[in-house]
Amino acid sequence: MMTMRLTVLADNNTYIDQYYLGEPAFCCLLEAEGKKILFDTGYSDVFLKNAQTMGIDLTDLTHVALSHGHNDHTRGLLFLPPSPATLVAHPHCFLPKAFEGEDIGAPFSAEEAAQRWDVRLCREPMALTEHLLWLGEIPRVTDFENKSPIGTCGGEADFLPDDTALVWRREDGIFLITGCSHSGICNMVEYAKKVCGDDRVLGILGGFHLLEDGPQLDKTVDRLAGLGLQMLYPCHCVCLQAKAKMLSRMPVTEVGVGMTLEL
Ligand SMILES: [Zn+2]
Ligand SMILES: [Zn+2]
Repeated sequence: MMTMRLTVLADNNTYIDQYYLGEPAFCCLLEAEGKKILFDTGYSDVFLKNAQTMGIDLTDLTHVALSHGHNDHTRGLLFLPPSPATLVAHPHCFLPKAFEGEDIGAPFSAEEAAQRWDVRLCREPMALTEHLLWLGEIPRVTDFENKSPIGTCGGEADFLPDDTALVWRREDGIFLITGCSHSGICNMVEYAKKVCGDDRVLGILGGFHLLEDGPQLDKTVDRLAGLGLQMLYPCHCVCLQAKAKMLSRMPVTEVGVGMTLEL
């Protein structure tokens, strides 16, 4: 059976005795079906330094896929050399984003990015390999997720329509890889199931944007627990209470820089 190799290059967490660099950001490398896809870039050059320490070559990427425009996922682009790689993002990803007067958006405009990589701005799902899908704009269907904006985008309240995820489609089900899940992790799961025509959700890795205890967390944990996941890897923007509640009901594994998975 085909497999995808996933390597975490930047995350908030690092493991004891493994001397990689951490930062409050996310980046991972996906290698599948002859393609090499960088999913997000973290905030700084940490992903490059970690890749170098791991002996991973990032000069021959085929794709850069972005989860959304926030700088903890896109500012690393400043350090990624220009290449023919296809860069996939939502049209809002490169718009100016601000929070309380501070710039929290991508380091480039779409035009500037297009001078460095082969930029494809897209709202619809896009296949990166035969079995790896970038989901595009996520319909908001749950009644308990993402009701409030985070700062502004292009001067208007930002509900992060650019926020998306990747789906690895296996013969036995689907596996999601998320950035920050501003769209709502349950909305993402619902859309992934619909787009793939597959209700068998094997696992999820990424940030779920669950930063405090409360009704949204409890409803999310209930939903996720109902999926019958084989594996769950919450990281980046998931608080301790959220992890604890998930751990009591699901097979949770701690994520850290340098973690590799064969999926
Ligand atoms: Zn974000
Ligand atoms: Zn984030």
